Amino acid sequence: MTINQSGWKPTSPEANTGDVQATFTGNRALMLEEKLIFEIGDSETTGVDFADGDVSGSRLGNLTRKDPIGLPGLSEPETVRHYTRLSRQNYAIDLGLFPLGSCTMKHNPRLNEKMARLGGFSDVHPLQPVDTVQGALEVIHQLAHWLVTLTGMTSVAMSPKAGAHGELCGILAIKAALEKRGEGHRKVILVPESAHGTNPATAAFAGFSVEDIPATADGRVDTAALKARLGPDVAGVMITNPNTCGLFERDLKDISDAVHAAGGYVYCDGANFNAIVGRVRPGDLGVDAMHINLHKTFSTPHGGGGPGSGPVVFSEALTPFAPLPFVEKTGEGFRLVEEENADDHHADSFGRMVAFHGQMGMFTRALTYILSHGADGLRQVAEDAVLNANYVLRSLENTLDAPFAKSGPCMHEAIFSDENLAEGFSTIDVAKALIDEGFHPMTMYFPLVVHGAMLVEPTETESKAALDQFIGALRSVAERAKAGDPSLKTAPHFAPRARLDETLAARKPVLVWKDKAA
Ligand SMILES: *Cc1c(COP(=O)(O)O)cnc(C)c1O
Repeated sequence: MTINQSGWKPTSPEANTGDVQATFTGNRALMLEEKLIFEIGDSETTGVDFADGDVSGSRLGNLTRKDPIGLPGLSEPETVRHYTRLSRQNYAIDLGLFPLGSCTMKHNPRLNEKMARLGGFSDVHPLQPVDTVQGALEVIHQLAHWLVTLTGMTSVAMSPKAGAHGELCGILAIKAALEKRGEGHRKVILVPESAHGTNPATAAFAGFSVEDIPATADGRVDTAALKARLGPDVAGVMITNPNTCGLFERDLKDISDAVHAAGGYVYCDGANFNAIVGRVRPGDLGVDAMHINLHKTFSTPHGGGGPGSGPVVFSEALTPFAPLPFVEKTGEGFRLVEEENADDHHADSFGRMVAFHGQMGMFTRALTYILSHGADGLRQVAEDAVLNANYVLRSLENTLDAPFAKSGPCMHEAIFSDENLAEGFSTIDVAKALIDEGFHPMTMYFPLVVHGAMLVEPTETESKAALDQFIGALRSVAERAKAGDPSLKTAPHFAPRARLDETLAARKPVLVWKDKAA
């Protein structure tokens, strides 16, 4: 199969010899080689000039610092340049397609930013009197309404700060519900083999023991094996839908019914909600709790590890146990329910996940996204995301091994294995060579059920031209890996850093910077 590459041509393999000439300075083209901030400047320089203090004696006693503090000393322009140079070595969703599967890296509309920066949202303080933040509370309340509506659930806890934090919130609600029923002895959570690592980690962290449920050959949960394991010691299941093989779990309703009949609860990992938003309501599938990654489905930025936002929607059965606070609408406006008191109908709440109310900036961005798309627009998000992923899958299934290509259309992500690469070549060689071709690598070696997995999630925000460019690059790299091109083993050749010795880095990590002069 050939793809119209819209005039784009892959770099010729000959260009990739790794034999790039060293420069006098170590700098390359307009990219300056950047040292650690501790290695530049000196401690006598600062970016800020303080007036001498009017000190009348120290109250620190024997806590007074005796040695130099060792902070880097840079002037303001040196500081600005340092971080700007570092930022140029980064890849970002604003630079190009970000194919990470399971991550839903999509365009963050600028309108979201404009709204989040309005003074009434960006300048509020969590301890402000409630009557001065009515607008902010209304945003939280409206977003909560849309999240409950889109998922077909009963309530939502807005405060969890990321997907994994939301998982913990949901599992703690399950724990509280079981304890209330006098069934705190149910200690087993069943997790499919293909689950994201956060699922078993969450269950273990909350004090449960985790048991694996196998997958069928077509990449879905083995429903029969799951049902066979249900019993009086099982607290519940954690299932991702669509799952991490990019497939829809068609049996989820049937699984939920069986889990409920056996006295357990169903946690759904909703990180992949982007593929079904506006089309499927998890509440209709019997889900009891599910986190929603606002920083995936609802386009708020992933921002270098934070802040995320992971609200958790609950079924009627788990709603009484949801964590505080809640925003409620009253005759006079909006109020915050902050205490577990019986009059407020939250007597059974398991407590709190965070000190305050969650990520205001992310709430504002997500609500802006939802309102600017509308119901039809959100539905189209899911449809286009699935269409794009299937385009990637079908364009590359004859080049790379695609283990579930026969299981029908994929959902939001396409999965390939390292099955047909040349002897000695693996997924990492393909990923590193993609860096030289200008693309951030796809998710590698996950999910674990696929050998040398390459998980590609293009999302709906990529155009056909962008997809063709990416597909062309991945195909060219894959063909070279199949042909055993040795230059791939040392890629990347053009990145700020060449291939790292990852084994050494993992075995002997250098985690603390030490002043060589000291
Ligand atoms: C991203 C993701 C998570 C965790 O979400 P964070 O916000 O990164 O904590 C959990 N499960 C799946 C399937 C994910 O893709």
